[in-house]
Amino acid sequence: YRWMSTEADKARAAAEPQPHEPTIFDKIINKEIPANVIYENDKVLAFRDISPQSPTHVLVIPKVRAGLTRLIRAEEKHKEILGELLYTASVVARNENLEDGYRVVINDGKNGCQSVYHLHLHIIGGRPLGWPPV
Ligand code: AMP
Repeated sequence: YRWMSTEADKARAAAEPQPHEPTIFDKIINKEIPANVIYENDKVLAFRDISPQSPTHVLVIPKVRAGLTRLIRAEEKHKEILGELLYTASVVARNENLEDGYRVVINDGKNGCQSVYHLHLHIIGGRPLGWPPV
């Protein structure tokens, strides 16, 4: 199985796309492909990760990417949506009964193992988590 690469290897090998290039998350926002949506308002969408790493694994994304492919690309104009995303993480955590604890993760860029260049928060919980992340 030498030829099989891990998700981390794939993310590290992927070049960062241009800010306007559509991602799979645009198709989810536009309902072109199905997603298990658990929370939605006019600004954000929260849905279950297709490849869950824990009993609860939810992604929170802005509906309008507005150039925000990576956290490191954030500008002053993104401050409000950044607040919306983190607040939504708290709503999701409450709705998913994660009182015992959970983790909010942003994988940023190649070394951060980012694979989808539309900013997203991972909400991971429902089991004890290790630290540090490898
Ligand atoms: P990241 O590695 O931080 O860019 O995370 C991207 C996440 O998106 C991964 O955890 C994938 O499992 C998840 N993902 C990719 N495609 C889909 C999809 N169609 N529906 C739900 N989650 C997805």
